[in-house]
Amino acid sequence: MDIKSGYPFWAVKNGLMHAFPALTRDVRCDVAVLGGGISGALIAHELLTHGHSVCVLDKRDIGWGSTSASTALLQYEIDTPMCELAKMYGEDNAVLAYLACMQSIGVLADIAADAGDVAFDLRKSLYFSSQKSHVRRLQAEYALRRKHRFPVHWLDAEDVRTQFGIEAHAAILSDLAAQVDPYRLTYRLLMHAADQGASVHDRCTLKRIVAKPHRVELTSEYGVQVHAKHLVVAAGYESQQFIRQRVAKNRSSYAWISEPVPGGVPHALSKAMLWETRRPYLYARATNDQRVLIGGEDDAFDVPLLRDARLPKKARTLHRKAARLFPTVTLKPSFAWAGTFAETADGLPFFGVHAEHPPSVLFAMAYGGNGITYSTIGARLLRATIEGRQHPLAALFSFRRLGH
Ligand SMILES: Cc1cc2nc3c(=O)[nH]c(=O)nc-3n(C[C@H](O)[C@H](O)[C@H](O)COP(=O)(O)OP(=O)(O)OC[C@H]3O[C@@H](n4cnc5c(N)ncnc54)[C@H](O)[C@@H]3O)c2cc1C
Repeated sequence: MDIKSGYPFWAVKNGLMHAFPALTRDVRCDVAVLGGGISGALIAHELLTHGHSVCVLDKRDIGWGSTSASTALLQYEIDTPMCELAKMYGEDNAVLAYLACMQSIGVLADIAADAGDVAFDLRKSLYFSSQKSHVRRLQAEYALRRKHRFPVHWLDAEDVRTQFGIEAHAAILSDLAAQVDPYRLTYRLLMHAADQGASVHDRCTLKRIVAKPHRVELTSEYGVQVHAKHLVVAAGYESQQFIRQRVAKNRSSYAWISEPVPGGVPHALSKAMLWETRRPYLYARATNDQRVLIGGEDDAFDVPLLRDARLPKKARTLHRKAARLFPTVTLKPSFAWAGTFAETADGLPFFGVHAEHPPSVLFAMAYGGNGITYSTIGARLLRATIEGRQHPLAALFSFRRLGH
């Protein structure tokens, strides 16, 4: 599956950070993790630090999947507003999901601090109303979040203008959000995991996976085997290929990044990351080398050749929109890229067993705009499942909500 177009900034910036060894000898471990993206890295980290032996396998280079394409805004604010989620699953569940995502930012801050040098920065998040007709819905969202004591503030058009220099009808300002270099975090976690005794192998193609209720056996194209008690499929948007049931829809998402801005990024981005109420939404963040990174312009379908062909025009549109959002700075284009982006119907992820596979096989499908915060929660949820414990989100963040 071709999941990227163009030059994702993080991969260009960091290059191949480490050469992981080829899988040349049979491995026995507690958990085999298929996929060395940010999800696989966070899961391996969680399992290893709690005493499980781990083997991570990736058919590409580490971090080369959608992790390298991610713009890596870390938000507790799910693409599905809390009000909408409450209508689907009840207010308690909506609050539970938002709270778990909020806590995961603190967890990620600790993980990033341990990993070191991964460009992790805490930021506020400004969710602005891009159309006047959206203001009433935004007010309802604000009221529900306030009711449950989320750290949010209401800004009217004048507040947004004076505090952020942005033209918008109103906004919710959240005190807690963050940003990271997702590719660097993935490499550093897996390099650390290898130092701790994990087997990490990239460019490793599997020719066979045999899963029994209490064990799995993976065989590489060269006949080398990995024997484990569990398999975690953390294959990103390609995980869908392991189950017949369609659980998500693929679309294409686009990103554009400027050259470093002389004099620094616009004031708004030094304080906050921005996103809007229109769907699909436009969003923006800064990098720590003073670039403006802007994303959106999603297509409702994902056809790699079309995605490649549409990238130059999408990049021009994103550049134009960035210039409109930040009229006081001159933004020069640096890179643009695009990637497959999978979304579930309710915006929630799937972690855990699926009825089409024995219980030794677990999935990590961190689908939606909060993929990285979801993976942070998912790593704990999967560890709980492996250890035979219940996790508070085991029903809401798993295939159980589809009736499994
Ligand atoms: C343009 C864009 C912007 C985004 N912005 C954000 C954002 O701002 N915030 C956020 O939280 N999320 C964002 N996301 C989503 C986020 O990038 C994903 O949730 C995250 O990268 C998924 O990580 P992963 O490890 O699950 O998947 P991946 O990074 O794709 O890793 C999966 C790995 O599995 C490997 N693999 C697949 N199949 C096999 C197989 N059969 N055998 C061996 N290996 C296999 C792949 O090679 C790959 O390396 C964005 C995504 C895109 C595309």
